Amino acid sequence: MIRPADVVRHRLAGGNSHQELAFVAQEAASQFRRDQAKDLADNTDYWLGAWLAAACAKPLDYEQTKWLTMAMAESGSVIDVSSLPHPVVDKHSTGGVGDKTTLIILPILASCGLSCLKMSGKGLGHTGGTIDKLASVPGFRTDLTVDQMVETCRQCGIALAEQGQDLAPADGKLYQLRDLTGTVASLPLIVASILSKKIAGGANLVGLDVKCGSGALMTDLQHATELAEWLVRVGRESGLQIHAAVTDMDQPLGRAVGNALEVKEAAAVLRREGEPRLTQLCLTLARDTLHHAGQNPDLADQALASGRALHKAEQWFEAQGGDPTCLHHNDWQKSAATTVIFSPNGGFIQKVDARAVGESAVKLGAGRTTKTDVIDPTVGIEVLVQPGDKIDPGQPVFTVHHRAELSTEVVRALQQSIVTAEAPPPPRPLVFTTV
Ligand code: URA
Repeated sequence: MIRPADVVRHRLAGGNSHQELAFVAQEAASQFRRDQAKDLADNTDYWLGAWLAAACAKPLDYEQTKWLTMAMAESGSVIDVSSLPHPVVDKHSTGGVGDKTTLIILPILASCGLSCLKMSGKGLGHTGGTIDKLASVPGFRTDLTVDQMVETCRQCGIALAEQGQDLAPADGKLYQLRDLTGTVASLPLIVASILSKKIAGGANLVGLDVKCGSGALMTDLQHATELAEWLVRVGRESGLQIHAAVTDMDQPLGRAVGNALEVKEAAAVLRREGEPRLTQLCLTLARDTLHHAGQNPDLADQALASGRALHKAEQWFEAQGGDPTCLHHNDWQKSAATTVIFSPNGGFIQKVDARAVGESAVKLGAGRTTKTDVIDPTVGIEVLVQPGDKIDPGQPVFTVHHRAELSTEVVRALQQSIVTAEAPPPPRPLVFTTV
């Protein structure tokens, strides 16, 4: 019999057996289900919290991370995608500010014949969630059952829905405890958390976008690259065909931050009117995935240029109940008020701090600080400048879309998010490396 105290003790000594890690995942999943049922009879939170702290002090190695990943993936149901045309693709970003790439890449890939099936969480903290962006589209339903997801994907090549309660429930519990106990930042735990959900989600080809910079989970290149390498290695050893790119998240991606604003910007890219850096990143990531699917990467550019990707997005919106005309105009989900923010300084912009912009968007109501916060789909920030631009004092730098009065705290934070100097900054790559 496995005893919780031994599992923690062995972790502190640096080793847990395959069986012990399966026990961690099973106990976490059972507790997750008890929490859902509001059953307080048995509570494993204490020893799981101790084990998570031990896992930060003595991190899991590759092999142990693979065991934990598989056990977490198998702690609930795994989506059966055998009825869908293969490969079945999932695109995952580790999260950033203004990151609406999923809304562009899935239609590109689906219009090239790939099946795109994706589960997504709601946004928490300064990074936005794809579910919240799509939920801003009038009528768009993100609460599909697994059967509805598979059917929607069969019909139009794309389905994207909220993570169901029965997918990787062990992660549901462990992630909550990591958040509560300050143990989120352990690399092997992040890897097991992300990959267990990808495996349970059923896709066999996964394209990862590991963000790096002030607005990302990993703020420096060394840690972001290490995360990408672990995800790819553990993912491959767990049976996924998986590749990763480490991409810039030091400045917001594109011009829009906030839910409806981001959908409108993604639609502009699909209409070939998009911001160049955002368009370039989407094409780079889509090309990578096509390459790994054994297809010609140039198909991505053709799908966008021909309007096929836009047409695919219309089909997708319609299939999930969303109004497809939203892809063609911006006259929907408009905020009560807009205010232009001016720069107090002049010079060459060195930095538009992604985290500061993301946190300001949350304060406006575009994101959540706790899981129960209610999002306002209309609010957000348009970023009018980017690093390398030369500005004069008093030049407009942001347009804020907000509800009632705009707080001076947000205005000040946005003004301070822009750093200027006398000379232009060194160029910063959009894609640092691929794994
Ligand atoms: N995203 C996840 O799903 N899990 C983590 O641990 C971190 C980011």
